[in-house]
Formats: sequence, structure tokens, C-alpha cells
Amino acid sequence: MSIFTKIISGEIPSYKIAENNQFYAFLDINPNAKGHTLVVPKREVNKLFELDSKEYSDLMAYARKIAIALEKAIPCKRIGMAVIGLEVPHAHVHLIPLQAMEDIQFNKKVTLKPEEFEQLAKLIAAEL
Ligand code: AMP
Repeated sequence: MSIFTKIISGEIPSYKIAENNQFYAFLDINPNAKGHTLVVPKREVNKLFELDSKEYSDLMAYARKIAIALEKAIPCKRIGMAVIGLEVPHAHVHLIPLQAMEDIQFNKKVTLKPEEFEQLAKLIAAEL
């Protein structure tokens, strides 16, 4: 069982932004930038491009909604999207509020307090 499946089931806590029957969106715990969000299919599939085309399109449509809310909630130039999956073998996309190219390079991290994560998740959810 992946760590994301445990998050989705509530076994491990997360700073949730939104969910529907298919997908779960929550803040990345080691963010590149404030508001760095992960959007995950509830069905545990290893690689993003292993999703069938319907589930892939549905995930993109859901990620788009989250990205639009994210851009309203977090001051940034635009929202970047990345697909990696080297750490967690459960398909997901990263949505990252960008001010500069470094924000999507996964070597510049920001440290946030629990209260800041909670506040960010609420701010983003309020724009949905
Ligand atoms: P990757 O699989 O390389 O796309 O990276 C997985 C991402 O999941 C990393 O950015 C981690 O910081 C993030 N991550 C890992 N565990 C958790 C967790 N328990 N809660 C939130 N984010 C997590």
C-alpha cells in the first residue's frame, strides 16, 4: 500500500485541499514553494502514464480546477505542473505556484509550520 493510499484513507494525516470520488488533492509536505500541491488518483497505480486515457483525462481536468484555485489563492506568476514519481510509486502530479524557474527544480525547498500548511490548504480550498 502506498503512502498516498494511506493518506487518502486517513491513516496518515494530510493538509487536504479537496477530494471527489476519484481524486485527492493535498499539500506536499516538503514544498518547493508555498502552495505546492499534489493531485492523486485514489486508485493506486504506479506510473501516471499507466492510467487509462479516461482516468488520465479526468485527473487532468481535476488538476486544472485545483490549479485555477491555487493561482487565485497564492501570489505567483503562474502554476507549473510536474510529473516525477521517483519517491512515491503512486501516480500524481505536482502543481507548483511559480515565481521563478528554481521553484520547479526540486532542489529549493521551503520550510513551513503546521499552522502555515493549515492556513494555505484553507485559502486554496476557499477558491474552489
Ligand atoms: P515524487 O514521487 O518524486 O513525485 O515525489 C513525491 C512527493 O511526495 C515529494 O515532493 C514529497 O515531498 C511528497 N510527499 C511524500 N510523503 C508525503 C506526505 N506524507 N505528505 C505530503 N507529501 C508527501
